[in-house]
Amino acid sequence: MKMQLGEIASAISAQNDTSAWNQIEVSSVAFDSRQLSKGALFVPLEGERDGHEFVKGALQNGAVATLWKADHGEAPAGLPVLVVDDPLTALQSLSRYYLLKINPKVVAITGSNGKTTTKDMVAAILATQFNVTKTMANFNNEIGVPVTILSMEPNTEVLVIEMGMDRPGQLDFLSRLVEPDVAIITMIGEAHIEFFGTRDKIADAKMEITHGLKADGTFIYDGDEPLLVERAKAISQRQQTFGRHETDDMYVLDVEATDTQTRFTTSAWPDQKMTVPMIGDYNVNNALAALSVARLYRISPQASAKAFTNLNLTENRAEWVNGHAGERILSDVYNSNPTAVKEVMAAFSKVATNGKRRVVLGDMLELGEQSDRLHAGLEEAFDPKSIQDVYLVGPHMKALYQALQDRFELSHLHLYETAEQAKLIAQLNEDIQSEDIVLIKGSHGIHLENVLAALQ
Ligand code: ATP
Ligand code: MG
Repeated sequence: MKMQLGEIASAISAQNDTSAWNQIEVSSVAFDSRQLSKGALFVPLEGERDGHEFVKGALQNGAVATLWKADHGEAPAGLPVLVVDDPLTALQSLSRYYLLKINPKVVAITGSNGKTTTKDMVAAILATQFNVTKTMANFNNEIGVPVTILSMEPNTEVLVIEMGMDRPGQLDFLSRLVEPDVAIITMIGEAHIEFFGTRDKIADAKMEITHGLKADGTFIYDGDEPLLVERAKAISQRQQTFGRHETDDMYVLDVEATDTQTRFTTSAWPDQKMTVPMIGDYNVNNALAALSVARLYRISPQASAKAFTNLNLTENRAEWVNGHAGERILSDVYNSNPTAVKEVMAAFSKVATNGKRRVVLGDMLELGEQSDRLHAGLEEAFDPKSIQDVYLVGPHMKALYQALQDRFELSHLHLYETAEQAKLIAQLNEDIQSEDIVLIKGSHGIHLENVLAALQ
């Protein structure tokens, strides 16, 4: 972004006299004093530590001005400070102001799984025709969304924004903040069921993404999810569904998977083969959501197909890497939940190999009271005919360990505490042969990326 401090001060109604600093050029916002670029406006947020402690450090590191919370005592004298009631609210207001100023089309994406993947796909497709800004990494909450908005180049024509949620009201707020032209729900799963209790309640909360949808906007969603179909009846805006059935506005005709790619055709363009450079049948659904946007914005199927082949994916999606014994590792260490595990297991179980298929699975976090049931419920994904050895990590995996004892001999079933990574790595080093394939998946909090690194 590019704005003078005076413009920012009036956009967020700063309470102090800023006239001495109004000409200062601001080019970004930052809330980590160690990671900021020259020209940043520092936003002191109150997290584990109070951001106000880092204001001086931020200015030494290149920030040109800072926000300051009014009831936080006297603002430091002589420094370019904008006093506000609440820095986070000011950040959000500033992003709203900047969004209206640049005025791009906005595509907002939520869903229990597939947000980031769909975001990357939508952005790749739209970038064939428009200047696109997309959410970086996984910045999808009430801080990340404003930061994404403020990262837009002034020539941005479409903003593709990921929206996460872990409680009711969050998407209502984010959707009203950006007023999307397109709102997408990729799917309803069981992520965050700890807080919600039921899938019905998750669906209710996800539907909030439509609360700010423009009157002439479009709601795109998984048409095979009854919870969404039912709720969409109350939405007056245009709708487009995608899925596997002929009742969907865009559906899959056929799917063909290899170890590294998934090929499919859709009802929209039966003659156009689409190939996404990733495995997992679920990625076809993410691609359908993206293609629904393509159709809305009249991007040709050829251009969309080409965009898929050059897809620039955000870090750590399920991807194949090589291990040091020569084995191939399907790494998915960033995120885990029941639907995601079942999907990736289904894909992994079909990958051809002359060696063994080994599965390293870490706890799925944030499942609350239903955690044991949902861990044990993964049992059906493990067919001993296709999976030879299982390594489970974390306290919740005990439930799955017990469930699997009927299916696997104990010598092929291992259970580790989260802190026993060294033991796990030693066992894997002993077991893995060059022809093997290994799946590693777990919630990020289990840090299986360390195990992955040790095997590479
Ligand atoms: P986060 O909540 O961490 O931001 P996300 O919604 O952005 O997650 P992605 O990062 O796109 O989701 O994908 C995470 C994992 O979820 C994938 O590696 C895959 O295992 C699974 N997944 C992705 N898309 C789907 C889908 N449409 N249906 C089921 N599972 C999916
Ligand atoms: Mg994400």
